Amino acid sequence: MSEHTPHNHPDFRCRELFARMSEYLDNELDGSLCREIEGHLNECQACKVCLSTLKRTVALCREAGAAPIPETLSRRLRELIATLAKP
Ligand SMILES: [Zn+2]
Repeated sequence: MSEHTPHNHPDFRCRELFARMSEYLDNELDGSLCREIEGHLNECQACKVCLSTLKRTVALCREAGAAPIPETLSRRLRELIATLAKP
C-alpha cells in the first residue's frame, strides 16, 4: 500500500487549523504557528473562506460590545467548523 495524497489538503490539517482558529484570531498563537496557519490558508480555499467569515464575525462582535466572544457564538463557530471540516 502506498501513501498517496491525491490532493494537498489532508483533512486532519484543516481540523487542526480550525481548532486553533479562534486563538489565531485573538493573536494568542506564537509566530511559527501563525505562519503555519497562514501557509495553509494560502493553499486551502475552504479554510480561507472560513477564516474570513470568522474574522468578520469576531470584528462585529467586538464592535458591538467590546466583550469576549459569547459562549453561544463560540458554539456556533464550532458547529460551522465541524460542518466545514467534513469530507
Ligand atoms: Zn484547509
